[in-house]
Parts: sequence; structure tokens; C-alpha cells
Amino acid sequence: MSADVIMSARGLKRHFQGSGALFRKPAPVRAVDGVSLDIRRGETFAIVGESGSGKSTLARLLARLLEPTAGSVTFEGKEIANLSGAALRDLRRDVQFIFQDPFSSLNPRASVGRLIGEPLETHFPKMTAAERRERVAELLRQVGLRPEHMGRYPHEFSGGQRQRIGIARALASRPTLVIGDEPVSALDVSVQAQVVNLLADLREALGLTMIVIAHDLAVIRHMSNRVAVMYLGTLVEVGETDTLFAEPRHPYTRALLAAIPEPAPGVSRPAEAIGGEIPSPAAPPPGCRFHTRCTYVQERCRVDVPELIDDAGDGHPVACHFWREIAARHPFAPPVERQGHGPAAERVALYRHAVARAEPIATTTTGK
Ligand code: SF4
Repeated sequence: MSADVIMSARGLKRHFQGSGALFRKPAPVRAVDGVSLDIRRGETFAIVGESGSGKSTLARLLARLLEPTAGSVTFEGKEIANLSGAALRDLRRDVQFIFQDPFSSLNPRASVGRLIGEPLETHFPKMTAAERRERVAELLRQVGLRPEHMGRYPHEFSGGQRQRIGIARALASRPTLVIGDEPVSALDVSVQAQVVNLLADLREALGLTMIVIAHDLAVIRHMSNRVAVMYLGTLVEVGETDTLFAEPRHPYTRALLAAIPEPAPGVSRPAEAIGGEIPSPAAPPPGCRFHTRCTYVQERCRVDVPELIDDAGDGHPVACHFWREIAARHPFAPPVERQGHGPAAERVALYRHAVARAEPIATTTTGK
């Protein structure tokens, strides 16, 4: 393992019991079906894919919130499946999770001081009450809230502020790795940009490593150093964010990128725009799992499984038999060149504006 790799997964699988017809054994749901990846220390690594791709299950496996069916996850060189007692507590301290929904992830009967103070009590039992209070105040300031918010309850805050409380709670144990499962998707668009900025600032200031799960490519584009694209339980492409957005190799990645920004009314979508529904993970198609939706499908794709390999040797592996031919015959036009319109284009512009701003994050004084 390279020294700058903080977490690795190898052959990671998680299958769930499926539901089937009477007298017939149900097929397992292959939510994650053989994922290998390395997370580099200090980077923001994004995992992107449609709903049903298995990305949230993968995030939970990496945080050991779920046990794998097969495969391994190592954190700082140690297999996390074998940890128990003090070693497992250390993992819980060092790897923190930010949940998607700030409304349901916070106990409504606990004050903000209590919510953020709890992990301090767990992980730093020798801390005095005064020290804990000071640390809660510091965490509130770090996420753009104010110490006097300590006595308030989650319902007194907006969605964006609640997510800030969730972030402060995650940071309380001084983690080295933070995993965010769609950390902004439940928020209003304008608030999303603020929280995206906050997470980027915190990563920089605290030297964190982040794994961000998202389906929104505008979020990914502005948050991550590297991106893994997930389809039906497997990774189909991994690359540096700028390279992957400019020169996507897998037809699925090309299709996802082609969908943003949305074309203006009357403008047809490019050839690779994705169609149809993602197949059931209980019955993934044989051969290449994407072949039922791929614009460039050939006979070989229906029987031969493409492996995720870096055959170009440039750190940009892809799982497609024909990516070189596709790139040569159908050069990809980056979405920014298509001058999009509509909600997705507005969101891209909003993130650009938010990231360009170096101002501190605005908060209301009312807590509403
Ligand atoms: Fe499409 Fe074939 Fe490549 Fe799969 S292997 S993405 S079906 S061209």
C-alpha cells in the first residue's frame, strides 16, 4: 500500500436478501458487487452514480456502518472488519459520517450543545464540562454558527443550519476521514452552495480527507479532486476530476455529463444521453452491466465483462472494451461548451459563483 493511501477497499461486496415469488429462492440484491479503490490522504474523493447504483451502500461499508458480504476495507493499513473494543472506538473517532437528511439525523429532543457535546464525552472522557463547552463553541464557530446557538433545538434551525450542526457533530471527535452521503442534496439550491463551500473550507483548514457520495455532478465538480463513477454495484471509471469532466472515457460517464447542463428547449440531446431505467441489482445484465443502455454496445459487450483497468497507464482506469475507439470516433464536447439553460445550468452557475467567492459563509442571526 502506498504511504499516501489512507483507506483502501478490495473486492468489496454487499448483497442483501431479495424478495421472491412463493417456492422460488429470491435472487440476492447485489448492491455493491466487487469494488476496489484507494483513497489518498487529504483528497476529496467523490463517488457518483444514479439512484440504485449502490453508492450509499458503499459509503456505509467504508465507514463500517454495514458489514460486507465479501472483500476487505483497510483504514491506515488495518482491516476494519476485525476491529473491536478500543480499536473499533478509535475507528469511530477517526472516520465520521455526515448523513443526507439533516432533519432526521439529529435527535429533536437534544439541544445543539448536547448533540455536539455527546461525541466529545464519548471520545474524550477526560475533558471537563468547561472544556467541552468551549470546544462546542469552537465547533459552532467553525461551521458558521454562533456559540449562543448551543441552547437551541434542531427545529429552531433551517435545513442548511441543521446540516451545519451535523457537520459540527461529525468534526467533534477530530476525525481524519469524513464520509458525506449526499450531504447537500436535501437542501435548497442556494444553501447547497454555502454548505459545499463550508465543507471545502473545513477540509482545507483541518487537513481532512473526504469521501463524498452524490448524484449531482455540479456538486462533484466543485468539491472533489478525484471521482469514481458507479453503475449497478461496480465502478466503471475513476479519474482526476478535471480530466474526467473534460475527457470522460466510459459511455455511462459521458451520458451523465451529457445530461448537464440541460439543453435549451428545441435543442436535441447529444447521442450519448442516457435512456431507460437502471436495471435491478438483483438481476444485473450479463457481460457489461451497462450494455442494455449503451449507445455504443457491440456483441462482445453482451457476454464479456469489462474489468476496471488503467490500460492507458495514466491513473484513469475505465471498464469498457471499446473506450479508445469511442473516444477517437466520437470526441466528447464538455458540457460547459454547450451553453445550457434550465435548472441544472443555473445550479452550475450558482456553484461557480459560490466557489469564486472568498467571503465567510453567511448565517442568519435568528436561527431561522
Ligand atoms: Fe458500452 Fe460495450 Fe463499453 Fe459496456 S463495454 S460501456 S456496452 S461499449
